[in-house]
Order: sequence, then structure tokens, then C-alpha cells
Amino acid sequence: MSGSEQSGTAPYRGDGWVVLGAADTVMVGEDDPAHFVHGHAPSSEGGTPVLVADDDGRRTWAVATTPDARPAPGTRFVPAWELISRLGPEDFAVLSRARMLATWQRDHRYCGRCGSPTAAAPDEHAVVCAVCGLRSYPRISPVIIVRVTRGDEILLARPQRAGRALYSVLAGFVEAGESLEDTVVREIAEEVGIAVAGIAYFGSQPWPFPHALMVAFTARWAGGEITADPKEIVDAGWYGSGALPDIPPPGSIARALIDDFLANGAAA
Ligand SMILES: [Zn+2]
Repeated sequence: MSGSEQSGTAPYRGDGWVVLGAADTVMVGEDDPAHFVHGHAPSSEGGTPVLVADDDGRRTWAVATTPDARPAPGTRFVPAWELISRLGPEDFAVLSRARMLATWQRDHRYCGRCGSPTAAAPDEHAVVCAVCGLRSYPRISPVIIVRVTRGDEILLARPQRAGRALYSVLAGFVEAGESLEDTVVREIAEEVGIAVAGIAYFGSQPWPFPHALMVAFTARWAGGEITADPKEIVDAGWYGSGALPDIPPPGSIARALIDDFLANGAAA
């Protein structure tokens, strides 16, 4: 993706640990929130360490701690999403991979088919059932995110689930049997009741909350008036580039879609 801001200092570069806490938190340096890879193993482990990266023998591991784990001296736990706008794309990718792999392994300690304990496969990221042989892979859930424009205006909506009153582009999970384009058309129709055309690929971003892959598109309004689904959307409207409401902070592909509109207009 493009548009991310580099800020803070680089995290630890060497053999290290990404330590994931309860409630979507990650352990960071007390004085440096961007420092999320630590040079020492955690004192309280809740799961099996997972190899996240091997950079010429310098290995980064991830581990999910027990809910009562305390941060190591000089560190604290912060919500992982707070790091999005502090990390560059490469570091955010390491954090995403750590979160996805550690939480997947924590949640797949037993076979989903026969209920027996699983063990990590030696040759790839998978867990294998010793009894029935079922091999399970990390879960990655595709989500479409789409910027819809009408003339020189952009469609922005405030979702019900967001904690803050931010307006963003629309997104939704791909359902079984759908193409990505099918999902774009269905989500826009369901959430705001309009038709779109000219669907074009924009970019993608791993999004470890908890295991999504955001696939971004642009599209044009093709008919209908905005009718927000109250179960999903608090408010939605068309906005010109000079009068945007509060939008997401830098770092997300949602923000990259909006920044691209501000820089280049509706032209995809
Ligand atoms: Zn089994």
C-alpha cells in the first residue's frame, strides 16, 4: 500500500519476540510505543512460540501470553491498532503476521474434526492432528474495502461498530462462493442502497484484527440514493474534497484510498 507515515524509532532488529497480550494488545517499550520486538523472551507464556520472520538467521518469534501476564520491566501493553499510524509498512507487516499466526495457533490447539490435540507441523505454518491427520492452516479472511465516487464527491460513512466518530469508505467480509467484485456490489447495496460500476483494483493490506486481508477497490456511483442500513451505518453521505468529516488516521488502506482521492480526484 502507499501513504503510510514513518514515525517513531525502528523496533528491535535481531533475534526477538513479539509478545501479544489479552484483548488485542501488544507489548511495547515503555518510552517507545513503536518498539514492539523485544530482545528477551517473555516471562509468562500462554502459547507455543511461532516463527514470524527469519532474516539471515535473525529470527523473530511471536507468542500469545496468558490473560494475567504482566509486561516485562520497561514495557507495557497497548492496543495493537494504536501502532498502525506509528509503524511503517514493513514493520506493520511483521506485527500483522505475528498477530495472525500467534492467535491462530492459540485457537487451534485441538483438531476441529475429531477433537484430539494438534501439534505444529515441522515444515510449514500448519497444525496437524496426530489422530486423524487433519492439517489446518492459518485463517485469512478476505475483506473488500471500496471507495465510491460520484462526480467530484466521495462516499463516506460512519459505521455502527467504530468506537470513534470517524467517517470512512465502506468494507465487508467476502462470503462463501462470492468473487471480490460480487462482494463489492452486494456490500454497497446492503449498506447504503446504491448501485456501482467501474470496479477497479487499488491495493491490499493485511489487517490483523483479527485475521483479515483488506482488498481495496475504487468504483463509480451508478444509480440510487443513499439509504443507510441502520444496523451497520450511523450516517453516510457524499463529500467534496474541501469539506471532509473526521477520517481514519494514516496507516490504514482506508486512509490511503481517501488520500488518493484528495490527491487525484475520482480518477482511478
Ligand atoms: Zn483429528
